[in-house]
Amino acid sequence: MALILDGREVARKIRQELKKEIGGYLQRGMRNPALAVVLVGDDPASKVYVENKRKACKEVGINSMVFNLPENTSQQEITDLIGKFNGDPEIDGILVQLPLPSHINTQEIIETISPEKDVDGFHPENMGKLATGKSDGVIPCTPLGIWIMLKHYKIQTFKKDVVVVGASNIVGKPMALLFLKNEEAPVSVCHINTKDLKSYTTRADILIVAVGKPKLITAEMVKEGAVVVDVGINRLEDGRLVGDVDFETLKDKVSAITPVPGGVGPMTVATLLLNTVNAYRKKHGFPPHPLTQV
Ligand code: NAP
Repeated sequence: MALILDGREVARKIRQELKKEIGGYLQRGMRNPALAVVLVGDDPASKVYVENKRKACKEVGINSMVFNLPENTSQQEITDLIGKFNGDPEIDGILVQLPLPSHINTQEIIETISPEKDVDGFHPENMGKLATGKSDGVIPCTPLGIWIMLKHYKIQTFKKDVVVVGASNIVGKPMALLFLKNEEAPVSVCHINTKDLKSYTTRADILIVAVGKPKLITAEMVKEGAVVVDVGINRLEDGRLVGDVDFETLKDKVSAITPVPGGVGPMTVATLLLNTVNAYRKKHGFPPHPLTQV
């Protein structure tokens, strides 16, 4: 049976540490870190994600303000709201929950967020810093969370063959860039047009899957002893949440695997907290949190 990479536990430890850190700031008479969250529309999954983020902020002492705007909110209204947050010295981080309604130009919205307050790390300036190996940018939450989890479990990454399945701006691409930044390991990135997916996945010592298709990865597609990180979140018709990987058939073949739920998801929330505290640290002239120095 594989080692289960328990994101809930690692995330709990990060929250505990951040709570102590923020408690220290308050004792010194400083204010709480603050995060503004923009949620547009009524997508039930987005509401759940925002609520999880709000709860986690509350637990550690980050003041989070959720702005739930109606589905028909215009591009300009969202831009104006972000402009207000950009100029507010009491707000450290801004998060716009994705996906946005289809009439909104998401990339334009991301680009209106001040890069220092872009706690999701999606702004081109932050992506550019990651791509060029600069260490003062914000790293997107999910890849950073995966990286921290691999390091927590002392998973060897140096010179390992890494394969990332899925090439989105928010997970697959920045995940691959993170490995490249560290020159730790050669990385292959697969997407919808990858001809023979299995020929890549069976080569992987570390396989990271972020697609959004249940059971995309089956046991015969992985190498014996591989480390598998399942980013996918899929709701089945019977209400169950599953990843992109066929966990039951893989767990006896691989050496380590993340469960869904309880793997990558909690790490994504924990790194959002880290990125928010980092924005606060930067404003106060403190160095970034060591866990984010990758
Ligand atoms: P996305 O933007 O839809 O990107 C999916 C990627 O997978 C695209 O690059 C797509 O390629 C590729 N793809 C689609 N079908 C494929 C196939 N059959 N073989 C190989 N690649 C394929 O999704 P995302 O935002 O990255 O999210 C991916 C999954 O992760 C979703 O289930 C999402 O809910 C989940 N997620 C989880 C967390 C977490 O914290 N656990 C965080 C973020 C996302 P093309 O672009 O070429 O179509």
